This record gives sequence, C-alpha cells and structure tokens, in this order.
Amino acid sequence: MTRVLVCPVCGSNEIELDSGGYTGKYMCKECGYVGSFIIEMSESEYRELKEAGELERFINEKKKELPKEKKPEKYPYENP
Ligand SMILES: [Zn+2]
Repeated sequence: MTRVLVCPVCGSNEIELDSGGYTGKYMCKECGYVGSFIIEMSESEYRELKEAGELERFINEKKKELPKEKKPEKYPYENP
C-alpha cells in the first residue's frame, strides 16, 4: 500500500524532504511549510478523507496527539 505524506498546514500531499533530507525535515510544495512534523497515511485513506471533506478535521486530531514542542535546552533566565 502506498503511503502518502500530508502537510499539516494545508493538507497537500506535495511533500518533499527539505534540503535533500539533510535536515530531516519536510517541505510542502503547496504552502512552503517546513518542519519535522508531517502526517503519514495510506493513499486510499488520504483520498477518502479528502473526498469526505474530513481531511482538515483529521489533521487537527493528529496535531492534538503531538507531544509538546521540545523545550529549549536552556531557559532564558539561566543565561548569564
Ligand atoms: Zn502545505
């Protein structure tokens, strides 16, 4: 089964690895989103969600499952 990568911002599946994959991030060719968070699903699932108009809702659900953004290694108040 073909897997597709879906942009969490615009729902496009026109996703490429950013900078040829060096950064480990993805880039959306539609809206220019760059980030390590991307939604992966099967092609048929993607098509069904899109046809049902449920893609946006699905993406929002996925976003809720996200762990909180990694904290910066140093807090600002720890700086000299
Ligand atoms: Zn996008």
